[in-house]
Amino acid sequence: MGVQDSLETVQWDVSEAAHITVDNDYCVTCEDKPCLHLCPAECFDYQADQKGGIYFAYEPCVECGACMVFCGNDPEKGAVSWSKSEGGKGVEFDFG
Ligand code: SF4
Ligand code: SF4
Repeated sequence: MGVQDSLETVQWDVSEAAHITVDNDYCVTCEDKPCLHLCPAECFDYQADQKGGIYFAYEPCVECGACMVFCGNDPEKGAVSWSKSEGGKGVEFDFG
């Protein structure tokens, strides 16, 4: 089963509060933009009209943690800020 097939088996109880935010000021300086290729939920979108920055949508996030690795939660090194989804919200996996 591919990633897209897997994503069709999950559901979301979307919180009104974003559990991940992205600092676009940093993104405009990021040449490779690995997020565009490595986020399995395609939460990151290139925005040429934002001076080459990133539009980020937290809603389809599957909380895989990959962006913590390829971008980082360190203000000195990356643009991604992570926090836990509020209780019970976010992606719901069916392991049945
Ligand atoms: S989110 Fe991270 S990897 Fe993506 S463009 Fe911004 S700085 Fe680069
Ligand atoms: S945690 Fe995973 S799915 Fe969510 S934004 Fe980061 S890379 Fe994408």
